[in-house]
Amino acid sequence: MSPGDFVPISRVFASEAPGTTVRIRGWVLRTRSSGGILFFLLRDRSGVVQVTGRRDALGDAAFDAAEHVQIEGSVAVEGVVAEDRRALDGREVRASRIDVIDAGEPFPIFTDQTEEFLLDQRHLAIRSQESVAIFRVKAELLRAFREFFDREEVVEMTPPILTGNAAEGGAEAFQFDYFGRPGYLSQTAQLYLEALLFPHERVYALTPSFRAEKSRTPRHLTEFLNLEVELAWCDFADLLIFIERMMVDVLHAVAERRPKELTSLGRPPEELLAIRAPFERIRYSEAIDRLTKLGFPVHFGSDLGTAEERALTLESKNPLFVTHYPRELKAFYMLQSRDDPRAVEAADLLGPEGYGEIIGASCRETDIARIKERITQIGAKVDEYEWYLDLRRHGNIPHAGFGLGVERVVRWVLRREHIRDTTPFPRTPSRHTP
Ligand code: ATP
Ligand code: MG
Repeated sequence: MSPGDFVPISRVFASEAPGTTVRIRGWVLRTRSSGGILFFLLRDRSGVVQVTGRRDALGDAAFDAAEHVQIEGSVAVEGVVAEDRRALDGREVRASRIDVIDAGEPFPIFTDQTEEFLLDQRHLAIRSQESVAIFRVKAELLRAFREFFDREEVVEMTPPILTGNAAEGGAEAFQFDYFGRPGYLSQTAQLYLEALLFPHERVYALTPSFRAEKSRTPRHLTEFLNLEVELAWCDFADLLIFIERMMVDVLHAVAERRPKELTSLGRPPEELLAIRAPFERIRYSEAIDRLTKLGFPVHFGSDLGTAEERALTLESKNPLFVTHYPRELKAFYMLQSRDDPRAVEAADLLGPEGYGEIIGASCRETDIARIKERITQIGAKVDEYEWYLDLRRHGNIPHAGFGLGVERVVRWVLRREHIRDTTPFPRTPSRHTP
């Protein structure tokens, strides 16, 4: 069989009429044989189909070889498309020829294994149908974001990952030796995006962020994909409207393009299509009041953790903006609120159903003295931020932006218990292999 002849398995169901001879190839998802008939479930990138092979049609040698193929072994098949009510989606391929590419060793993964074992076997576990569906949805989400930015004339940038200062203070930065000086893995691309905003006005970056957070919560990874956006001439109202439009647009695109995967993972696409702007907005102070009524021991100045964020959105189907956080809780570059000096013009977008923060957004402080004051307050050195302060010295303008945790969105959209299920090779405090 020559390589050009093969069709994707999806074509067996879509365009190939019963009676047509096709060539397909892929990996064996399931295998059994009885009474001189062999059954394979064969998977490729496009789908899964049942293949049947009869000893009398294949010949003894080929039948015996095919019978020895393990789960996840690879084969090429030539056969006829046939209707069969008992088969998956009503069709199967009746093989006239099966070439074993690699019979494979016994596959180590089967049902009822521990989470730890499956994480050790992650390089193989990512072949599961569940993983395939998760990462197709994630890819679709990234595509939808890029399409949205394209339409909105937001330009993709490539900020560095290796940096000489820990952007938001040192505690959570991974430090390493950079030729005798300290180097850090990027915690955020934001400061670089702010610099790139002056020549491009509307920029975004989709890059990994690294946080040396020891907190073992189901929503923290030490490496995650951060989608960061920076917009010139943008005030707080504009910022929230941009975020809303983006989320609705992207969620609807994914619902329309991946209904099968969403349904199989427990998220009916209709639920995403029901999400509409505007999202509810509440001030941090109001969130504190609500939480106090629910019995949480919080006061103005308390950080909202997993439990508090969960309580605020457990009953809602739409995301929620919490705005005007106390200045001390937030990063040094956030704009001090003109109507409440204790607060910053910042908003976190909380996912519905208790999933918690998915976006951190703010207007950026334009007053250089205030930025310096806050840098000193967090215990950092002003001279390390001189290049950033230059941005306020040359054509300073109002601007705003946000960072969205891609895996946080996938976790909510796909109702995953733990964020590690939303990335193929999760990095957590206890694991950086495979
Ligand atoms: P949290 O309070 O949940 O730790 P954060 O306030 O530190 O989040 P930001 O610095 O605003 O988060 O980062 C922007 C976005 O990146 C967050 O809204 C979140 O979606 C995501 N994010 C932050 N930290 C992590 C992490 N450790 N793992 C996965 N995603 C994260
Ligand atoms: Mg954090």
